[in-house]
Amino acid sequence: MVVTNVSCTVNNCFFWAKDNSCAADSILITSDKAALEHSDMAVGQESRNSLVQEIGETPARFIAETACHTFKAR
Ligand code: SF4
Repeated sequence: MVVTNVSCTVNNCFFWAKDNSCAADSILITSDKAALEHSDMAVGQESRNSLVQEIGETPARFIAETACHTFKAR
């Protein structure tokens, strides 16, 4: 099943919308460890697929070890 309804409380994000929803076409979520290892994480939508291929799988142990990397400050 693919999730199409994302709830998000990061209200200073460019993609954040009314009622704590996300208006981005797609989002990228990885483990925090992977984000630290790939400083180029903040890429445009068009480059995201190749970046995801490069990063591969990034398991996390706890909720606190994951986050949305599509965040873009307003
Ligand atoms: S891109 Fe990420 S941080 Fe921004 S509104 Fe969507 S889910 Fe939240």
